Amino acid sequence: MQIRSDFDSGNIQVLDASDPGRVRLAIRKDFASDHFQWFHFLAEGLTPGQTHRFTLENAPQSSYKNAWTGYRAVASYDGADWFRVPTTYDEGGLHFELLAERTSVRFAYFEPYSRARHAQLLVKALALPNVELLACGSSLQGRELPLLHVRGTAAAPRKVWLIAQQHPGEHMAEWYMEGLIERLGQDDDELRALLAQADLYLVPNMNPDGAFLGNLRTNAAGQDLNRAWQAPSAERSPEVLFVQQQMAAIGVDCFLDIHGDEEIPHVFTAGCEGNPGFTARLEALEQEFRQRLMAIGEFQVAHGYPRDQPGQANLALACNWVGQTYDCLAYTVEMPFKDHDDSPQPRTGWNGARSKRLARDVLTVLAAMAGKLR
Ligand code: ZN
Repeated sequence: MQIRSDFDSGNIQVLDASDPGRVRLAIRKDFASDHFQWFHFLAEGLTPGQTHRFTLENAPQSSYKNAWTGYRAVASYDGADWFRVPTTYDEGGLHFELLAERTSVRFAYFEPYSRARHAQLLVKALALPNVELLACGSSLQGRELPLLHVRGTAAAPRKVWLIAQQHPGEHMAEWYMEGLIERLGQDDDELRALLAQADLYLVPNMNPDGAFLGNLRTNAAGQDLNRAWQAPSAERSPEVLFVQQQMAAIGVDCFLDIHGDEEIPHVFTAGCEGNPGFTARLEALEQEFRQRLMAIGEFQVAHGYPRDQPGQANLALACNWVGQTYDCLAYTVEMPFKDHDDSPQPRTGWNGARSKRLARDVLTVLAAMAGKLR
């Protein structure tokens, strides 16, 4: 059997692939940091009808070792249909197996969103009559960082920002942006109501270098971008600097930062309750957003991160920094790597299609709330 990861978002180290009943592997660290969790590789030379077993031996040392409990790896024969495979976890590593139906298969931590698909998404977005490439930043390694402007019809529109995949291993985040952009191509009453009040500003992928490199958490300099918002720099975090400069020029009335969470098997949000500038107005907006989303989509409020104490927010996080700076509704949206246990789908777990549906539901919520953001 041959194991390869020399492609977009590939990540694996082969320790010993000589026994298909016990293939020994390890996850490579992020390009310039000690984080690791994301994996993605191609296994070739499988024997159809035979069970192949793989172990990620360093999983217990990974960034979020608690994330492996209850987690199942995803596999795909064709790169399009991804399904979960039987997986167990113990001190010896993460073990998964596949009764092979074909001679080659991909495995990954989550259904990957490729750079090629990203390029197609931009083409699709820019073909829409009301979408323009407003500005284009550059990542540390010189990859494009497009900022899309969705023009509404209001004379003085609210400015709604969505950014995705600051953490490059969280591929569900760009799936979410694809769902959002696809809905922009439809003509429905809710969307029209939203665009009658608001313009959208979209960064489909904040960390293209990290995504390409197969990183979990950081960019090409080893910087966690979602810890860089208080003091971004051209040397360490030009991706954040670019977006902050654009925000300063345009303004922000609402901000959503799209992520995935390794451990919690639910969709949830994290807000700005710990910001020094948090007010009853913002709290009411947060509550309305959550209630509306819960009523229509795969979303819940019982599970999530512990709430920050008043005044104790970490302002290096995008959500907190933007919420504080622009006195606006700001949420981190977290989707699971595992499944949304409120409506489990065992074959796929949480996946790209469900991430896309969530984005469409959030547009419905924003349509109902756009008039109240200020
Ligand atoms: Zn994240």
